[in-house]
Amino acid sequence: RYSTAAAHENPITPPVSVQYDKLLIDGKFVDAASGKTFPTLDPRTGEVIAHVAEGDAEDINRAVSAARKAFDEGPWPRMTAYERQKILLRFADLIEKHNDEIAALETWDNGKPYEQSAQIEVPMVARIFRYYAGWTDKIHGLTVPADGPHHVQTLHEPIGVAGQIIPWNFPLLMFAWKIGPALACGNTVVLKTAEQTPLSALLVSKLLYEAGLPDGVLNIVSGFGPTAGATLCSHMDVDKIAFTGSTDTGRIVLELSAKSNLKPVTLELGGKSPFIVCEDADVDQAVELAHSALFFNQGQCCCAGSRTYVHEKVYDEFVAKAKARAQKRTVGDPFKAGIEQGPQIDGEQFEKILKYIRFGQEAGATLETGGDRHGTKGYYIQPTVFSNVKDDMPIAKEEIFGPVQTILKFKDLNEVIQRANNSVYGLAAGVFTHNIDTANTLMRALRVGTVWINCFDIFDATIPFGGYKMSGTGREKGEYSLKNYLQVKAVVTPIKNPAW
Ligand code: NAD
Repeated sequence: RYSTAAAHENPITPPVSVQYDKLLIDGKFVDAASGKTFPTLDPRTGEVIAHVAEGDAEDINRAVSAARKAFDEGPWPRMTAYERQKILLRFADLIEKHNDEIAALETWDNGKPYEQSAQIEVPMVARIFRYYAGWTDKIHGLTVPADGPHHVQTLHEPIGVAGQIIPWNFPLLMFAWKIGPALACGNTVVLKTAEQTPLSALLVSKLLYEAGLPDGVLNIVSGFGPTAGATLCSHMDVDKIAFTGSTDTGRIVLELSAKSNLKPVTLELGGKSPFIVCEDADVDQAVELAHSALFFNQGQCCCAGSRTYVHEKVYDEFVAKAKARAQKRTVGDPFKAGIEQGPQIDGEQFEKILKYIRFGQEAGATLETGGDRHGTKGYYIQPTVFSNVKDDMPIAKEEIFGPVQTILKFKDLNEVIQRANNSVYGLAAGVFTHNIDTANTLMRALRVGTVWINCFDIFDATIPFGGYKMSGTGREKGEYSLKNYLQVKAVVTPIKNPAW
């Protein structure tokens, strides 16, 4: 699609311009109350893409007021479910119509391969909104057979104003996972984007208003965590918070809710997901999937298969093939065709990953390949593979969030179950075996929110996703996500003539 001649040292000019750089409050693009802006950077070079309005406490207050008014007085929670459905379906059509423009903005701001944005992520965003559009007129309560002469029913009502905070690794998918169920249930929203990636949500939200969303139903505030994010979490007029990001910040979010109005909180946090390759696995397939489980999205996935446990009988073969595969990985300008890996999101993550690579070497793991920056400009890191990794090394315990595969050896099933579960995290796991008994044992024994068997990273709109343990609370996607955005009201009326 683009010239293959240009390398990342000489970045390709993105085929898109920044049209929206303000806050979106009450259906209008407005400056921050303070007039402040902050730069958002191109991870290919570290250069400024645009200066974006910087939302602060006062802007969150304005956005919450707009969302409150849209909920308490506006048409959104009162219109028929079918009307809401039509708006969400029109929005999905507009996303498809603008697919390439949205994808280019996402890649520019985030650094992920354009082919990934254009062929996987933006189409998935449209799919998620169609999925939730389908739910709008299927959300309803029950009649309940209570003891005594009472007619009892439950009403499933929207919870009110939802505050949502998202990270930078999948800016638009996280937007869709959050906004989709919230709007389908009839809520209004204030969403704070990540400070590293504010651009795509603004463009897409403009399309949602074009699809007919009433003013104030969705408000987007770009800005920083300790200012805009914390104000949203503490706000007395916000009825619910949904957060995705690091476990440390998740703890702060819960605390801010507890100290204000005890709003319910759902959290999607970090992970250190085991990827278990049993002795009977198809090694070539396992190598390829373990590679993508870790390296996909520059290794910046909360569910990355970041502890690769391989049975001792196939360990040496696996390590040799994993190393060869990593050495073939194409790294470079994400706008270039055929590129598998672009730059990391920013200088902070880049430094953090290089620090973990040093930790791995110092702890005595074997550096099979990679281990340094790629090129001299931007935040590119060589695909890195460590073998002979031990469970107590920092690279095996902590979330690196980068292109660093760690391979560990195991002998038997009970041992690997115990080691895989020995983590504060419990987000996901991959299991590679052709033995149904082994698969059944592992799927039940692993304390994680998702088990992928002979596959990995299958993210369908219908499949619930979320964590056990310190990987979070609540589920996103699928029917389960609706619970996060609904209140249940019990209604009791006496039955005058119990004979009927
Ligand atoms: P983070 O948790 O600091 O940021 C995520 C979001 O939370 C951002 O929108 C941020 O502005 C906001 N935030 C930060 N402080 C806040 C506060 N006090 N109150 C309210 N909101 C706040 O994550 P990060 O700094 O971008 O990344 C750090 C690490 O988090 C990464 O290295 C990675 O390990 C992990 N991470 C996990 C995910 C995931 O999907 N689970 C995503 C991104 C990062």
